[in-house]
Amino acid sequence: MFFKIPTLVYFEDDCLKNHQEELAAFGKTCLIVTGKRGSRMNGSLADLTEVLENNKIVYHIFDEVEENPSLQTVNKAYLRYRDKDISFVIGLGGGSPMDAGKAIAVMLYHRFDDVYRLYQKNADHKSLPFIAVPTTCGTGSEVTGAAVITNDRIKTKQSISYRIYPEMALVDCRYLYSLPKQVLTNSSVDALAHLIESYISAKATAFSNMIALEGLRVWGLIKDCLLMPEKLTRKDYENLMLASVYGGMAIAHCGTALPHGFSYTLTYNLNIPHGRAVGYFLYGYLKYADQKEVKKVLDMIGFEDLKQFKDYLTAVCRYEVLENSILDLAIDQLKEDKRKLSYCPYPTDENLLRKIAYAYGDDR
Ligand code: NAP
Ligand code: ZN
Repeated sequence: MFFKIPTLVYFEDDCLKNHQEELAAFGKTCLIVTGKRGSRMNGSLADLTEVLENNKIVYHIFDEVEENPSLQTVNKAYLRYRDKDISFVIGLGGGSPMDAGKAIAVMLYHRFDDVYRLYQKNADHKSLPFIAVPTTCGTGSEVTGAAVITNDRIKTKQSISYRIYPEMALVDCRYLYSLPKQVLTNSSVDALAHLIESYISAKATAFSNMIALEGLRVWGLIKDCLLMPEKLTRKDYENLMLASVYGGMAIAHCGTALPHGFSYTLTYNLNIPHGRAVGYFLYGYLKYADQKEVKKVLDMIGFEDLKQFKDYLTAVCRYEVLENSILDLAIDQLKEDKRKLSYCPYPTDENLLRKIAYAYGDDR
């Protein structure tokens, strides 16, 4: 049994200011990778540039990362900044800018002429130093090695082969205040999925379960707030962020399994946001799992049974039953993903994948 999370995590108000000297130690020139609006709305970009200026770090801002970032965007940033002598990369925003930032840090280190080399076998997991500053509360990318990028050649999303753990995660839950409520909900359902998929995982250990169970407990504290997001308090925001970091730590060890595997097809083809797409499959995944373990999960987050859990997810994510054609495509794509299938703790075949994918609609 082992457990390893190499990222140094700070979780506090004014995190960027408090740790500016450690940030400055990564080098003289940095590339900030972010989205168009979020990091300006929540003040994190202003906080970051102020800290960099105070420490005389030259910075460039690449703010063209879209949701579910593409290889083309990663390549665009690489081509624009490859000759700027960048010494470290900061991913600022939700999972999309953080994941794009990891992939860009790999490209800048290796100076790849072909962006598809991000998926090559025998990756050496080297990159420029990468720092993460999350502004959503779901992906946990600030503590995982994964970077999920949209790959049009295979018409879905896929983690790059390189495992890039941030050197440092600077987590300030106040950046969540400006999150649109539906983004906040989708994001929190993603965190829940990370916790559940890790706890119900073939790779789970006593160490990862300690984190997953504590994350589920914290998630249970905020579950009712997601039904009334206008009433969120400062403490709720802190718990939302905490549950997300726990979820990231848990999947850093266990990886994600079937709900994530199914979800990529929905996001690629129907543009359904990541957390909302993953959440659609949680009910089916739990329905076929060991019911003793499922009971523990439900007890931890405060549901009496799976039906209550399903009704809750329907309310917060506003699900409608998906068409058979998209579910069949998701099954076809997932059945090729040997790694995700191997993380499922119970044996699966195509028939069971179909039952899981269809469970939400079948059990109305
Ligand atoms: P996201 O795609 O990063 O952001 C969603 C939206 O929220 C964007 O419009 C963004 O605006 C906005 N936003 C972000 N923070 C904001 C804030 N504080 N205030 C206002 N608006 C804000 O969403 P996400 O759910 O965090 O990330 C999803 C991606 O992460 C997917 O690609 C998924 O596959 C990946 N993921 C990665 C891991 C991992 O371990 N690496 C795990 C799970 C999921 P801007 O575009 O302007 O920034
Ligand atoms: Zn996820």
